[in-house]
Amino acid sequence: MDKNRIERRRFMHYSAGAALAASTGAAFGVNAERQAGPEDCVANTVTSQTDVLVVGGGTAGIIAAIQAARAGATTLLMERGSQLGGTTTTAGVSFPGLFDAWGKQIIAGIGWELVRESVALDGGKLPDFSKVPRHHWQNQVRVNQFLYAILAEEKCAEAGVDIACYEFPQAISATAGGWQVDCAGFGTQRRVFCKQLVDCTGGASVVGMLNLPRLREQETQPGSMLFKLAEPNQPGRPNGPGSGLLDSLYVHGADSSNSRTVTAANLQGRKAILEKVRTEKRRLMHLQLETGFRESYRIEGETMVTVEDYTSGRLFEDAVCYAFYPVDLHTRDGVKPKPLAEGVVPTIPLRALIPRNSRNIIVAGRSVSSDRLANSGLRVQAPCMAMGQAAGAAAALAAQSGITPLHVPLEELRALLQAHGAILPG
Ligand SMILES: Cc1cc2nc3c(=O)[nH]c(=O)nc-3n(C[C@H](O)[C@H](O)[C@H](O)COP(=O)(O)OP(=O)(O)OC[C@H]3O[C@@H](n4cnc5c(N)ncnc54)[C@H](O)[C@@H]3O)c2cc1C
Repeated sequence: MDKNRIERRRFMHYSAGAALAASTGAAFGVNAERQAGPEDCVANTVTSQTDVLVVGGGTAGIIAAIQAARAGATTLLMERGSQLGGTTTTAGVSFPGLFDAWGKQIIAGIGWELVRESVALDGGKLPDFSKVPRHHWQNQVRVNQFLYAILAEEKCAEAGVDIACYEFPQAISATAGGWQVDCAGFGTQRRVFCKQLVDCTGGASVVGMLNLPRLREQETQPGSMLFKLAEPNQPGRPNGPGSGLLDSLYVHGADSSNSRTVTAANLQGRKAILEKVRTEKRRLMHLQLETGFRESYRIEGETMVTVEDYTSGRLFEDAVCYAFYPVDLHTRDGVKPKPLAEGVVPTIPLRALIPRNSRNIIVAGRSVSSDRLANSGLRVQAPCMAMGQAAGAAAALAAQSGITPLHVPLEELRALLQAHGAILPG
C-alpha cells in the first residue's frame, strides 16, 4: 500500500476517534485504567423524559421523529438495530416509491426532502414525475443506502431528535400523563416517561405489547435477502461488483416479529446465498445485514382501508396522505402486480393509524390498519414516509394539548403537515 494511502487512512481514523472522544467526554492519551468491578457488569440505568417516543427508526419512524421534533415536541427515537432506515437501508430496499401518480407528485414533505437530498449528494437523478411511466417501478427513486442512513441521522440531530440505537421496549404501563416504557439495550436499562407513543416497528410490536388488537395472515408474504454476486476472481479482472443493482432471493416464512424469527429468516437467507455461491461458483460481493420483511402484523385501527377503498381511490374525510402503487401481493409463485385504474389515487385516513380503543398511541408504516390486499400496496416506502409524518405531527399536537391523537383537530393537523411540506388529499 502506498504511503499516502496509509497516511490518509490514519488521518481518517484519528478524526473519527477524536470526534467520538469529544462526544463522550473521554480523551485519548489519558491513562484512566482501573480495576473492573461487579458494577461493570450491571447495565447503566438511564431515565428519559420526553413528549414523544418513536419506536422503530425505519422508513416511517425517521420521518415521524423529525416531524414531531420540528413541531416542537421533545422526541426520542428508539431503534433495535445499529442504524436508521430500516427496510430502506438495513435490508437494502433502497428504491423508495411511489411519490407520484398520473403525471403529478402526490407525496412530498420530510420523506421527500430526505430522499431528494440524498440523491443530490450522491450525484444521482430524480425521475421526471410529469411523465407517466410504462411500468410503475420506473419512477421509484434510487437512493444510496449508506448515505441515506447518515443523512437521516444528521436530519434527526438538526431537528433535536435524540437517538437510542440497540434499544427496544420491554414493558409498558400507562401513567396519568402518558406512558412509562422500560427499555433494554446492551449495557443500558432505560426508563422512558413519554406523553405519546408512535409505533413504527413495521409489525406493530408496541401495539402488541399493549394487547391492542392486531391482524395477521396464516401464511405471510415471503421476505427477501438482497445480495450481489460477481464472476469468479481472476487475475487481471476488475474486482468490483459490476452494476449497482442488487439481486434478491425469497425467504419464505420470514417473520419480523421477534429476535428468534428474525434470526431464523436471516440464517435461512444467508444459507441459500452460500449454496448459490457454491453451485454457481461466483463471488459474493455484497450482502445486506438483514432480511427485508414484507408482512407480519397489521393493527386493527379505528377504521380499516379495504382493497375496495384502495382500488377505488376513496377519499376519506380524515385523509392525511395519498398512496400509490399496484396491488402487489408476493406468494410462493412470485408476484403479479395489479396496477390501479387510470386516475385512481388512494388515500390513508388518520383513523387507520390509530389502534382501536387506544389512547396516546399512533402507528405509521406497513402495519397500517388495512386488509391484506390494500396493505400490499400501502406498505411501500413513500406512503410509509407520509404516514410517518402524519403520525409524528398528530403525536406532537396531542402531546402539546394533553389529548389523544384521535382527538387532534383535523384542521390543526392538516395545517401543521402543510407547513412542513406535505401534500394533503382533497
Ligand atoms: C424485499 C422487499 C422489496 C420491497 N420493494 C419495495 C419497492 O420496490 N418500493 C417500495 O417503495 N417499497 C418496497 N418494499 C416495501 C417497503 O420497503 C416496506 O414496506 C417499508 O419500508 C416498511 O417501512 P416501515 O417503516 O413500516 O418498517 P421498516 O422500514 O422495516 O422499519 C421498522 C424499524 O423498526 C425497528 N424495530 C422493529 N421492532 C423494534 C422494536 N421492538 N424496538 C425498536 N426498534 C424496532 C426495525 O429494526 C426497523 O428499523 C419492499 C419490501 C421488501 C421487504
